[in-house]
Amino acid sequence: MAQKKNLFGLTLLQLQQLCLGEGLPKYAARQICDWLYRKEVSTIDEMTNLSLKARARLKDIAVIEKTSPIEAQESKDGTKKYLFPVANGQYVEAVFIPDDSDEGASRATLCVSCQVGCRMGCQFCYTGKQGYHGNLSAAQILSQAFCLPEFHRLTNIVYMGMGEPMDNYDNVLQSLSILTTDWGLGWSPHRITVSSVGITPGILRFLQDTQCHLAISLHNAFPSQRAAIMPAQKAYPVADLVSLLRKQDWSGQRRLSFEYTMLQGENDDISHAAEVAKLLAGLRCRVNLIRCHATPDGRFKSPSMTVISSFRNYLVRHGLICTLRASRGEDIMAACGLLAGRSKDQA
Ligand code: SF4
Repeated sequence: MAQKKNLFGLTLLQLQQLCLGEGLPKYAARQICDWLYRKEVSTIDEMTNLSLKARARLKDIAVIEKTSPIEAQESKDGTKKYLFPVANGQYVEAVFIPDDSDEGASRATLCVSCQVGCRMGCQFCYTGKQGYHGNLSAAQILSQAFCLPEFHRLTNIVYMGMGEPMDNYDNVLQSLSILTTDWGLGWSPHRITVSSVGITPGILRFLQDTQCHLAISLHNAFPSQRAAIMPAQKAYPVADLVSLLRKQDWSGQRRLSFEYTMLQGENDDISHAAEVAKLLAGLRCRVNLIRCHATPDGRFKSPSMTVISSFRNYLVRHGLICTLRASRGEDIMAACGLLAGRSKDQA
């Protein structure tokens, strides 16, 4: 018997094709979207404005499958890390980050994963060390939001968890469509940020296909030093990417940011700050400095706050908008991939 199709995670167009193929009216697809993404039903039987015959036909060929988390760890600062099972004893993580500070204006951000592991091999990243084990489907990406107890509190979603979004482009785009179009959740695209190590072809498609914010993982502006910790630099030099980004229009609401994890003794002195300032001079963007979470092998550590402040001050003096991202959930191993990696090892 053919495997049943998962309705959850399908776009309006895909549902229209499915309906027409099954002899159902095309308008049923919009009704199904409403049940799936607005009313959040878990069974086809609950889609009560579809005829009994249509529901019976759908049940013959389709299911609604969402993946709930099997474990959660809560930090003393309120950050929660959720573990989601995927096929073959593998796991992915999503991290819920509430921010009730005045500055945060009650933001609640979810950081989602898009792949099981990652093939980008960034040296400072625990996920990178686990290798690549597959792409998440749009349903698996969206489950990380829809199946969260805090789903209705979310104000923002960032694609900054396990995996490289541009390496699973179609499924990431499908999930973004469902989050941001009127037949889906209807969120503003400016509530969503997608991060990339700098896979240029994917980024150019992303800029055409969506209005979501873009974050580039920079971490070092010296080409050879960046290549030593981020192998993707060899295929996609970040300077070439920045030249292309300069040709885009950043005057609207869409934001461009560069993530820079501070690594003691690797990328944290003033010569590094000067190279960042040179690379990004005149580009409308923001630099987010991130304190490094120490990795289990102890190779990378965060520099002191004094060093980070000097770095930040240098960038600000040279005309860049630069923020220091508060470190959250350190007591629950918030570094990307640690919980999923540990659970896999235990399994
Ligand atoms: Fe992959 Fe991101 Fe980790 Fe690099 S930092 S290995 S892109 S998950």
